[in-house]
Parts: sequence; structure tokens; C-alpha cells
Amino acid sequence: MRVLMIGAHQDDNEFESGGLASKLIKNGHTVQFLSMCNGCGGHHKLGPKEISEHRAKESAKVAELLGIRYDIWDNDDCNLVADLETRKRTIRYIREFNPDLIITHRTNDYMPDHRATGQLVVDASYLLTVPNECADVPAMRFMPVIMCSEDKFTNPVFRPDLVVDIDSEAEVKLQIANINVSQVYEWLPYTHGETVPDGDVERFEWLKGMKITKDTTDEEILAAPRGYDVRNAKPAARHRERLIELYGEERGKKIRYAEAYEVCEYGSPMTEEMKNELLK
Ligand SMILES: [Zn+2]
Repeated sequence: MRVLMIGAHQDDNEFESGGLASKLIKNGHTVQFLSMCNGCGGHHKLGPKEISEHRAKESAKVAELLGIRYDIWDNDDCNLVADLETRKRTIRYIREFNPDLIITHRTNDYMPDHRATGQLVVDASYLLTVPNECADVPAMRFMPVIMCSEDKFTNPVFRPDLVVDIDSEAEVKLQIANINVSQVYEWLPYTHGETVPDGDVERFEWLKGMKITKDTTDEEILAAPRGYDVRNAKPAARHRERLIELYGEERGKKIRYAEAYEVCEYGSPMTEEMKNELLK
């Protein structure tokens, strides 16, 4: 499978789908990341040029860890618009990669860049197959399957069509967060008014937050206020019933870490074969 993950910002693909990306790579599939924005916005001390250069280096480390190609477009954070020019760029980019599956944002997310990214992908979807649109790059014969990563917005509510077991990738997902220093140790704690401890070991422990053991209940995980270990475990706790439907009682009850996806009706329908491969 060729899987293209399209996020608005560096850290969106990573935090929402980093476990699945890692698992797919290990199972022999090809994964590529695109961040539509350049990371110039999210920092309280560094200016736009400094922070975007800094974040590009962090993204390069993520690409190396996962073994993927990672592209970053030159749109400024907070300024992405689903206009005609960007739609055509999106069509050409997707055609060149020729994915079987695209993962992106839903279009009713709180952040305008997330909404625009999701809109650009669904606007491109059918047009990918229209030969006279962006005719310089050959049209795709069929639309890819499109899935949207999970968000918390309720109108309409997120539908967990697929909830993927990423227990084998729990450590990789923590490492991905740890690489995004400017976000997880600087900008995001600043926005939440949190103090980060000194020292690489101490701050990584702080990042992980509450320790999860085999006895930790779903209720405790869902009630935990912060920490990336519980953050990565919350989708499994939240979608326990769906995990049991998808994986069966025995495995579904035990899964600790998961990522949830909604299949977008504007792409090709999800095949049983692809579903089974994603749920492995
Ligand atoms: Zn984002």
C-alpha cells in the first residue's frame, strides 16, 4: 500500500497517526508525510523564520526515525486557505505520489489550517481522476480511500470506523513526541501554563505523565489530565466497544494504545483487504 498522510502542521500526522505510520512501514508499506504549513506560527520566543527552520529539523528527525519521506509546504501557519491554486497543487502532489490511502483532518475541526487541509483533500479527491484537470500530471484511474483522523468536535460527531491497535508502536509514538522539542517542551506547555522540568530524562518522564500498568482502568486513563502516554492510550479507552467489534473480545479488551479513523465518503470505499491490513 502507498499511504499519504496530509496534515496542516508538523506534529499533526505524527500525533494522530504516527503509530499507524510506524506499523505500516514495518509491514512493508510506503508512507509519506506532507505538512501543508511551514511551522512559522507556533512559538512564544522564536520568530517565524527561526521557528520554521527549527521545526524542519525536528521533522527531519521524525522522518529518519520512521523511515519516510516528509515534505513541508511553504504556506504560513494560520494562513492556509482552500483556494484554487492550492487545490491544483494538492491534486498534482497526490497524483505524483499515487496513494491507495490518504489520511487527513476532518473539515469541521477548530483550527482553520486543519479545516483548509481537509477541504483541499476532499476537493481534490474526485478531480484526481479527471484527465483534463491539471493535465500536466497524469490523472489517477481511481480515487484513493480517504480517512480522517480523530478530533473531539461533536457537530457532526466523529465516527470511529477503524480503531487501530498500536500497542507495538507505543514507544515509537513517545519518541516522536520527544523529538518535537519546540512543541512538547516549549510552545504547548507555554500555552497551558505548565512548567517543564530540567534535564532530558526528567522532562521525558514528565512528557509521558501518568504511568499505565496492566491494572489501570479505561476510566482512569480517560480522567488523566495530561501526559502523552495517556494521550496515546485514550483512543483505546474511548472506543473500547469498537475495538472489541473489530478485533474480537480477547484482543479488543487488552489493547492499550490505539488510533481512530473515520472513512470519508468522498474517497473510494474502504475494501476488506485494506481494512484487514490496517487492523493487523
Ligand atoms: Zn495542527
